[in-house]
Amino acid sequence: MKIYIETYGCQMNECDSAMIRSMLVSAGHSLTSDLAEADVVMVNSCTVRERAEQRVLGRLRHLRGLIAKDAALGVIGCVAQRMGKRLLSEVRGLDFVVGTDRYALIPDVVEKAGHGLKRVETDQDDSEDYGDCPGPITASLSDFVSVMRGCNNYCSYCIVPYVRGRERSVPHETVLTEVKALVRLGMRDVTLLGQNVNSYRDGSVTFARLLGIINDISGLARIRFATSHPKDLSEELIDAIAGLDKVCEHIHLPVQSGSNAILRRMNRSYTREDYVALIGNIRKKIPGVAVTTDVITGFPGETSEDFRATLSLMEEIRFDSAFMFRYSVREGTSAGALNDDVPEATKIERLKTTIELQKGITTAINQGLIGTLLEVLADGPSKRDASRMFGRSRSGKAVVFECPDECAGELIHVRVTGCSAWTLHGEAEARQKDLARPFDGC
Ligand code: SF4
Repeated sequence: MKIYIETYGCQMNECDSAMIRSMLVSAGHSLTSDLAEADVVMVNSCTVRERAEQRVLGRLRHLRGLIAKDAALGVIGCVAQRMGKRLLSEVRGLDFVVGTDRYALIPDVVEKAGHGLKRVETDQDDSEDYGDCPGPITASLSDFVSVMRGCNNYCSYCIVPYVRGRERSVPHETVLTEVKALVRLGMRDVTLLGQNVNSYRDGSVTFARLLGIINDISGLARIRFATSHPKDLSEELIDAIAGLDKVCEHIHLPVQSGSNAILRRMNRSYTREDYVALIGNIRKKIPGVAVTTDVITGFPGETSEDFRATLSLMEEIRFDSAFMFRYSVREGTSAGALNDDVPEATKIERLKTTIELQKGITTAINQGLIGTLLEVLADGPSKRDASRMFGRSRSGKAVVFECPDECAGELIHVRVTGCSAWTLHGEAEARQKDLARPFDGC
């Protein structure tokens, strides 16, 4: 059968879709990006915010009208897990619903899908880590590998623990096999994914040890990871980031708020002071490390004083960049029961102020890099200007640069000559055609 998969949401969903494609191909099906010829169409969905969920429901209803009458339509992922069989009445003509712990059933589901048979598979299984799934079939230069599933933190605003279940670590041998397979398929830069990778544990293998094992893989240039929770970022992990040559000097460490009262209400399990001390220790041990974060404005009960505390924390830490959101109620979370008392206009205003502040800080940090030499993994032509190359520095910064000729997949030494708020500009000075050889002149 020809299968069409559409993915919404986070990198974890992208990783799951890639895994499901491998499953389907090894079960004898083929993949298509042409809706008109698809026998089965499935949407991998996101429910992180109400708006994301409504978007998926809207898309499913639209797809039903677009695809062949006898084609089967299904939804998988976090909306499937949260809403379950209710979706069959929400979306007319929907044939199957598969939750986040039931993907191993998908080859069988698509085999039997359609023909009026409705199928709902949303039982949760906290032991399911998909460790025995077929290996990857394609890879990108920079690609992702899930090392954990689920989360035990229950931050009060977050739906993830309810739709992805309890945390579990993928066996390190499985992770190793997948990374090696992706390197053979051309990957050079891997991001290890988990809701909170710090908690990774496979027997005696901690996350720091896992980084060490992956660091020994030849053909791999860089290792990144996301996301870390400030409550358990250990000395061992900080030392591993500082000591392992392929592990990039970039840590994404969501803080969410600078007010202790709001952090308590968010159930984040650390204080502002803990966070500041942790950043101090990280910067002492990893010179030049980039720190990025997540911030939520307008959380229930957030006073203007609480908000000022978030701004002052951002000024104190000076993050390299940040993902910034205004709070939106998520049904089913403990914060969903709180009085959403910050007016929408105030939420929007506070978000605007936060973004302006961060933009200024990021621009100043980028201006401070003008004249320096950065090691950039060339990804390909820049989307905005195909005559120039695009890539990322070790600290995750976007760099657009002049390079005499095609150099995708190579490590390039780029002299920074200028910047905009979110992007650095430069010129290639040296390149490393092959990871096993030294840098040559351009
Ligand atoms: S750590 Fe908190 S915000 Fe992150 S996925 Fe877990 S519950 Fe959600």
